[in-house]
Amino acid sequence: MPELFIGGTWTAAAGGRKREIRCPADGTLVATVDEAGPEDVSAAVAAARDAYDSGPWPRTPAVERGELLLRTAALLERDKAELARAESLDTGKRLVESAYDMDDIAKCFRWFGHLVAAGGHDRVVDAGLPDVDSRVVHEPVGVCSLITPWNYPLLQTSWKVAPALGAGNTFVLKPSELTPHTAVMLMRLLTEAGLPDGAANLVLGAGGAVGAPLTEDPRVDMVSFTGGLVTGRRIMAAAAPTVKKVALELGGKNPNVVFSDAEFEAAVDYAATAVFLHSGQVCSAGARLLVQEDLHDAFVAELVKQAESIRLGGPFDDDARAGPLISAGHLEKIEAYVAAGVAEGAVLRCGGSRPEDPELADGFYHLPTVLDECTPDMTVVRDESFGPVLTVERFRDEEEAVALANDTVYGLAGAVWTGDPARAHRVASRMRAGTVWINDFHPYVPQAEWGGMKQSGFGRELGLAGLAEYLEAKHIWRNLAPSPQRWFA
Ligand code: NAD
Repeated sequence: MPELFIGGTWTAAAGGRKREIRCPADGTLVATVDEAGPEDVSAAVAAARDAYDSGPWPRTPAVERGELLLRTAALLERDKAELARAESLDTGKRLVESAYDMDDIAKCFRWFGHLVAAGGHDRVVDAGLPDVDSRVVHEPVGVCSLITPWNYPLLQTSWKVAPALGAGNTFVLKPSELTPHTAVMLMRLLTEAGLPDGAANLVLGAGGAVGAPLTEDPRVDMVSFTGGLVTGRRIMAAAAPTVKKVALELGGKNPNVVFSDAEFEAAVDYAATAVFLHSGQVCSAGARLLVQEDLHDAFVAELVKQAESIRLGGPFDDDARAGPLISAGHLEKIEAYVAAGVAEGAVLRCGGSRPEDPELADGFYHLPTVLDECTPDMTVVRDESFGPVLTVERFRDEEEAVALANDTVYGLAGAVWTGDPARAHRVASRMRAGTVWINDFHPYVPQAEWGGMKQSGFGRELGLAGLAEYLEAKHIWRNLAPSPQRWFA
């Protein structure tokens, strides 16, 4: 069955091109999928435009749109095992982690389903005139291009698809070319849930050839993008000539600040998962550990022990605790960052290379790595490596901790660990990041907004704002007793 979904029909790429998808854990061929060309992208945008301008979806009552999201959540739960397996094969991620993701995805659809059905966005405005009825109503933005990355393929997709549809938009989705399968499966589930033809469209393929036209096409009203900073800048520029609405969820270089009065065992344990979960391929990874001077030696020693104990392995290896990187190119990038760190004066405490285990030789594995004695000017501290690489810096006091935490172009997430609630509150308030955890790392719920400050992007996903992104406010003013004004009399 072909994998492009255009106007309610499964379609093969017009140019007949195909792409091989290989599992990053061992290089095995997962599948060969259709690779869209410009004519497929144009057809998908046309289908979404038609469905918006004259199809039933934008005119479907909000309660019914909400119900469709809830039905989709139930179907995601029904097919959880199959979806998790597909996600793990594409990403190399441990099956248990993909299964967690599927639970989160169903919850995301449920959250937006209930939120949409509850309504309550529109309001009556008191215009101060007895014969005027003034109301602010909300309408879908229109045709949305949804462009997503490979690290949490269906999760990042659900954060866009659920609110976009809930608000009554139509869309063209382009998942990462490396991880297309769960997006294909989602299109089937939306159809099964009863979504009308043309409301959801899917094109597969490379960023430049397939993603870029989706950001330029004048028939598109909004681009919602999750991915890297450099791509985000390109997308903003590409959307500018037609002044599209843009939402950007970009990278992070997230600080994890540990004061010496923190609960030691928990802080070390979370510092390890903060950065080594999914081999560091997490936008909110706690890749910069800032630790108070007098705690530094003991903390790093214990953390290194934990890092060295992490067993690497493929998605179906029950003993593995972390998997491979997504590609050979990404592995080489991580190696270059580690080498640059050492060349610039960082001290390698553990990792720093590919594992020696011959069983892992066909996958793109990199050992969990701790670089100590780092300084803010180092490349490996400044850039998002997006791999299992932790940099460690010391700080003396609260003032220096906050300054170091904010010394980054990014502002996605961060954490503070301390036993002093007042200090926790002060530091959390001063951190310039869209999410701050106190004595925790990584949790999120769909009820709360997610997104970045500074060059981590703008716009919010999830929460209340995650739905508002996909709505336009319209003021309707009705004069109930029109009479001549005689302004020019
Ligand atoms: P990427 O920017 O390389 O690609 C993301 C998507 O954009 C892919 O689908 C890709 O094909 C497409 N793309 C590439 N060039 C394009 C172009 N010129 N026009 C349109 N589309 C284009 O990112 P990636 O490597 O897939 O993902 C990793 C990045 O994503 C990291 O920086 C990570 O921090 C970020 N990320 C952020 C969040 C968040 O919530 N803020 C979540 C997950 C990932």
